[in-house]
Amino acid sequence: MSATVFDVAVVGAGPAGAATARRLALAGRRVVLLERSRFDVPRVGESLAPNVQPLLRELGVWPGFVALSPRPSWGTRSVWGEPEERAHSHVFHPFGCGWHVDRRAFDHLLADAAVAAGAVLLTGETVRDAAFDDGLWHLPAQRLCARVLVDATGRSAKLARHLGAKRLLFDRLVGVATRWTGVGETERGHLLVESAPDGWWYSAPLPEDGAMVTMLMTDADLCATRRLHDTGQWMAAMRQAPSTWQRLAGARRTSPPQAWNAHSQRMLSPGASGGPWLAVGDAALAVDPVSGSGVLRALRTAKAAAEAVEAVLRRPGDAAAVMAAYEADRDDECSAYLPERARYYAAEPRFDSPFWRRRHLAGFRG
Ligand SMILES: Cc1cc2nc3c(=O)[nH]c(=O)nc-3n(C[C@H](O)[C@H](O)[C@H](O)COP(=O)(O)OP(=O)(O)OC[C@H]3O[C@@H](n4cnc5c(N)ncnc54)[C@H](O)[C@@H]3O)c2cc1C
Repeated sequence: MSATVFDVAVVGAGPAGAATARRLALAGRRVVLLERSRFDVPRVGESLAPNVQPLLRELGVWPGFVALSPRPSWGTRSVWGEPEERAHSHVFHPFGCGWHVDRRAFDHLLADAAVAAGAVLLTGETVRDAAFDDGLWHLPAQRLCARVLVDATGRSAKLARHLGAKRLLFDRLVGVATRWTGVGETERGHLLVESAPDGWWYSAPLPEDGAMVTMLMTDADLCATRRLHDTGQWMAAMRQAPSTWQRLAGARRTSPPQAWNAHSQRMLSPGASGGPWLAVGDAALAVDPVSGSGVLRALRTAKAAAEAVEAVLRRPGDAAAVMAAYEADRDDECSAYLPERARYYAAEPRFDSPFWRRRHLAGFRG
């Protein structure tokens, strides 16, 4: 049986992959979008910056987004660098507010939008390898081929690593998350970020009634040695974040702590020695959630990636130059991100603990 041939195979249907697939399908390309899940497992990253609005409009998914009934976020409150809570309102932002979404529903919406544009979505498909031969990428397990390959597998950067990309790992941050219900309405319009000795806390409303996600961001080794993924230790750590603790007074925890990798990393492509491929979203550059910009960056790089892929398909002879230019832009993004990350952490000098000492070293600027 012969393999089906596509112009582009996009692996991973998170925001980056789905948006890339939709853009290319709208441009008339034959696109296959491969996703290992069936959008049936929990996802994190539910607070969207106000700036996602123009990108979602440009993608043509704004009405669908509004139909998901996302919860408006009027701003962020932070306890960072001083014991008092500070409010940072979105009210004067040109787009008025950010959003709290159900990430499974949001990601599914974007994947459906790719399908509506003509992409073929294959769920339950874990792509483990790809080989370039005779002008085409071959995905043997899926029995399909494509002229260009896009790695959109998130922080795992599954294909980039398989294809020889070098990983620059900037930290070992993890997020240990729980979900809550019964949170008071006054707490449901904003995000709260609060520093503490073990790291920092993040709590954000979810669209469903009274629901909230609460996360401890700490380092993987500290999480392991202090057993911060155990409910008792996690709750004890939260007592050291009084605003977060107070916010959840009277609420009920509905899930045990679950750890997520949240490290910052840049995958350096080895160049186009094989066939044309590129990484998009977290698979290219993954940033600290303290920046609140993960989904925004995923959608932005999807636009850049789609343009690069389109250029490669039109002028295959220029593939190496197009990919090099795309990589140079990601390098610039990374160079701008690292000092920004260092500035966030430098603004909290109060704790003399391993988590904070690591972030106050000169080398933390990357
Ligand atoms: C704890 C935590 C909290 C965060 N909070 C926020 C936040 O509040 N706001 C924000 O903007 N960002 C946040 N982020 C970051 C945000 O979640 C990511 O930046 C964003 O999801 C990146 O999108 P992506 O499409 O690149 O990758 P992902 O969303 O990770 O999507 C990757 C997709 O690829 C699929 N996949 C993986 N491997 C394979 C494979 N081998 N074959 C097929 N499919 C595969 C996965 O199932 C997934 O669907 C947070 C991140 C973490 C870890």
